[in-house]
Amino acid sequence: EGRSEPVYISDDTGYALSHFLLPSHYQLDLERVLIPAGFILDRIEKLAHDIKTFYGDQDLHVLCILKGSRGFFNHLLSYLNKIHMYGRPYATSPPYMEHYVRLRSYVGTDSSGQLEVIAEDLSILKNKHVLIVEDIIDTGNTLTKFCDYLRAIGPKSIGIASLLEKRTDKSNGFRGDFVGFSCPDAFVVGFSLDYNEMFRDLEHLCIINDQAKQRYSS
Ligand code: 5GP
Repeated sequence: EGRSEPVYISDDTGYALSHFLLPSHYQLDLERVLIPAGFILDRIEKLAHDIKTFYGDQDLHVLCILKGSRGFFNHLLSYLNKIHMYGRPYATSPPYMEHYVRLRSYVGTDSSGQLEVIAEDLSILKNKHVLIVEDIIDTGNTLTKFCDYLRAIGPKSIGIASLLEKRTDKSNGFRGDFVGFSCPDAFVVGFSLDYNEMFRDLEHLCIINDQAKQRYSS
């Protein structure tokens, strides 16, 4: 029982834009498709299975880190619903309880920077198994800080599900427990991940081009 190893997406992985249906409003903004949506869904289904195997019938509190994790969270919960229905027909409690937070790092963005947590009252997570659901781990600073914040509440356990982890020299070593993909050190968008609020509606995970970075820079 350990970490669920991510699928390795190599640095030169990428599919020509012409191979997939893409929204015309992003036609000039993308460099390549990194992970097509169908592949993402297959991987999330397996992560749901790994999560269910790990937690079994213990009460599970899933915590979505908005906004980027919306796509991952939504699909993960759909798969957990199905596993619960098909595999446990006599279950008397729901497969999970849902919680949402919005995190904001103050500029400076080094590990000493402050984290603002916007959330409902999280004190109900005391003595619960909590699974944090994140879109991407880059430096790891955000989740390192948020886990410290959460630990102060006293949950029974903290698990980390992340759709992506980036291979970067800037990593502080923070690792997730259920990770979908290990991806190149590039800026990825789509599947609810944004660049200045754009691209969340893009279904495939893609890499944007320099022109898009200029066009949508804040
Ligand atoms: P960290 O604190 O691990 O460096 O960064 C975590 C957060 O930075 C993620 O939750 C995400 O919001 C943002 N982030 C880091 N890398 C990327 C990326 O490649 N694409 C997008 N859209 N967001 C990213």
